Amino acid sequence: MDRTPLIDPFARPISYLRVSVTDRCDFRCVYCMSENMTFLPKADLLTLEELDRLCSGFVRLGVEKLRITGGEPLVRKGIMTFFRAMSRHLESGELRELTLTTNGSQLRKYAAELADCGIRRINVSLDTLDAQKFADITRWGRLDQVLDGIEAAREAGLRVKINTVALKGFNEDELFPLLDWCAREDHDLTFIEVMPMGDLGNEDRLDQYWSLKDLRARLAERFTLTDLAERSGGPARYVRVEETGQKIGFITPLTHNFCESCNRVRLTCTGELYMCLGQEDMADLRAPLRASPDDALLESAIRAAIARKPKGHDFDYSRQSVTGQMSRHMSHTGG
Ligand code: SAM
Ligand code: SF4
Repeated sequence: MDRTPLIDPFARPISYLRVSVTDRCDFRCVYCMSENMTFLPKADLLTLEELDRLCSGFVRLGVEKLRITGGEPLVRKGIMTFFRAMSRHLESGELRELTLTTNGSQLRKYAAELADCGIRRINVSLDTLDAQKFADITRWGRLDQVLDGIEAAREAGLRVKINTVALKGFNEDELFPLLDWCAREDHDLTFIEVMPMGDLGNEDRLDQYWSLKDLRARLAERFTLTDLAERSGGPARYVRVEETGQKIGFITPLTHNFCESCNRVRLTCTGELYMCLGQEDMADLRAPLRASPDDALLESAIRAAIARKPKGHDFDYSRQSVTGQMSRHMSHTGG
């Protein structure tokens, strides 16, 4: 088997795969899903065995970091079997990191087992510390359950990074309380700019848009922020809060161009590989996967897809209209 690592046409090595293992979720966050989402028929989803074959294929071709997401990854039936299977790549040393992004609702149940599978750090999405606001934004979620899940993660020895979507008129007033809470609990914190994903038929995405430039300026009124050189190969930039020593991340896919260092591709739960979060082009990997038990077809489909990875994306809020808006939901491509 040809083990030449995946390098795209712009000389970017592809070392990071994000995998959505389900489009389903036990929450209905207003910026992510409509209240009455229609989910994919089960037969369209990759089975856990197929997910294993696909991810293992990518690991063979040089992927060193695997992030499992969704939908809510921990509501996928049998998902721990999959994490357990992936842990063999950590043991072999081929995979450097196995991690997940979760809404935290199932962590009480799974945190210890996740830690046992070699997971060291997880991202938990949390936009507010106010129980009523939490119920409003997630529609179906309960704050106490998520906070308890985060506590379970800590007990299991997992490091937690909190991901907070910056939403105008929603959590602007919680900027400092969130920061203080994360400092007290020793969680890293990253803010995400809301993205124009899917047609949710509720709030206009532009109404919720709170630029992280403004958010950062607000932080700088109270704290000294030092830019850190650290890069993840993705859209995150980091600062250190000198007064507390905290590291704060900013994910600004709309206002910054991070494409030149992009090292990642995204796989949906139906086996579509998106080479760029902001472009419609994708490659179907399910067909070659199902066509043959041998991985040769799959591997050439992966290589052909990477050869099409575009230079960059087209999101643009600057003209106050959502150009480059994507029709697919974050829960489909996996955030
Ligand atoms: N259910 C898990 C969770 O909430 O962490 C994983 C999937 S979720 C789609 C991944 C991330 O995408 C979450 O941090 C969520 O806040 C973020 N997200 C969803 N819709 C978004 C949007 N329209 N703009 C920006 N971030 C979004
Ligand atoms: Fe579910 Fe995560 Fe989307 Fe919220 S952001 S609806 S938790 S997938």
